Amino acid sequence: TQSSSPQRVVVLGATGSIGAATLDVIARSPDRFELVGIAANRSVSALADLCRTHRPSRAVVADAAKGEELKEVLSGSGIKVGAGEDALVELATMPADIVVAAISGAAGLAPTVAAIRRGGRVAIANKECLVTAGTLVMEEARRAGATILPVDSEHNAIFQVFEDTAAEAVAEVVLTASGGPFRTWSKADMAAARPEQALKHPNWSMGAKITIDSATMMNKGLELIEAFHLFPITADQLSVVVHPQSIIHGMVRYVDGSCLAQLGTPDMRTPISNCLSWPARGPAGVEPLDLVKVGSLSFEAPDVDRFQCLALAQAALRRGEGAPTALNAANEVAVAAFLDGRIGFLEIAATIERVLNCAERDHMLVEPKSLDDVAGLDAYARRVGTDAIAGMAGTGA
Ligand code: NAD
Ligand code: MG
Repeated sequence: TQSSSPQRVVVLGATGSIGAATLDVIARSPDRFELVGIAANRSVSALADLCRTHRPSRAVVADAAKGEELKEVLSGSGIKVGAGEDALVELATMPADIVVAAISGAAGLAPTVAAIRRGGRVAIANKECLVTAGTLVMEEARRAGATILPVDSEHNAIFQVFEDTAAEAVAEVVLTASGGPFRTWSKADMAAARPEQALKHPNWSMGAKITIDSATMMNKGLELIEAFHLFPITADQLSVVVHPQSIIHGMVRYVDGSCLAQLGTPDMRTPISNCLSWPARGPAGVEPLDLVKVGSLSFEAPDVDRFQCLALAQAALRRGEGAPTALNAANEVAVAAFLDGRIGFLEIAATIERVLNCAERDHMLVEPKSLDDVAGLDAYARRVGTDAIAGMAGTGA
């Protein structure tokens, strides 16, 4: 990567929070990066605005019904426009040096896998694709010789301090968690929490789905499963510590007692820049860390009684096979229902537990051997979850 020509970057999920941060990092270093392709779900005007500002050569809207509208607003721009699932996969495999997978949810799986199959570098923010199909995704990467770079701040931190040493040298991998907006709330208050309260994250500004996941701490649970796939470690070597300041993003403890941590101002442009520039480093526009201003760092154990989503994810990681796929799909429908006001906050965990119990009973939690198997189990879990939510509706919110 010492070449003088800029690295060509494709961003899937460009209109989101990670997308915006990625485009900002790219725009700061036009000599090092060139944005060649962007995609979004259905927000044509936001995508068109990004096209006018950043001038990629291609733009795709995943919702096929929005294709004509995008073509119209970008007519005469010289930007090649596409729409629908196939166009998304085509964008993910266009000539590029790095693809940033920043779609939210399991919907990002197909284009992310397509990008991986072409080999090269794939920066993964889309944790759900690693949770729902981690074994298959990592197998595809090995087969294609692709380099997976973790964007998620904890995983990027661990990636930065994970020494290329014997597996026996690693004692423990620690994910830090902010604890989210309800860290100090009672269970009774959490039961009555409204979406707008859960959407107020203390340290990070992120998309709605991950912000709710942070409030339930399912985000940390998904991240445990994500870490399990990204690093050569066992489930028993993974732990979580609540660290409300979000300054230490992740740590690796080695058998000699050394604990290596990565610190930084909580700003996703740091891990994004780390992935885009890897193995070098470049400026990211991030406020320098001022530890005197931060004052003190504190730590506490996670409370799995109040944050049952974390316990459910830990159980799914241990259960293995299809459990993480079912967990992820159930969580996606439950979070959507909570945001819509159809269920209460604590019913997110109740929905997921119900789905996992039904799936176990129905012998659905076998190891998915293909992406079709993943899609089948995902659909089953969404159906059972949707039925469970219909049965709960009105009791919570
Ligand atoms: P967001 O909701 O802000 O943005 C999501 C993006 O994905 C948008 O561009 C949207 O148009 C696109 N999208 C959604 N559904 C799609 C579909 N079906 N097809 C194509 N595109 C679709 O989300 P975000 O906060 O940017 O998070 C993106 C991913 O990164 C998530 O998996 C999240 O867990 C992960 N992540 C985010 C942060 C953060 O700080 N925001 C940190 C770590 C990890
Ligand atoms: Mg994270």
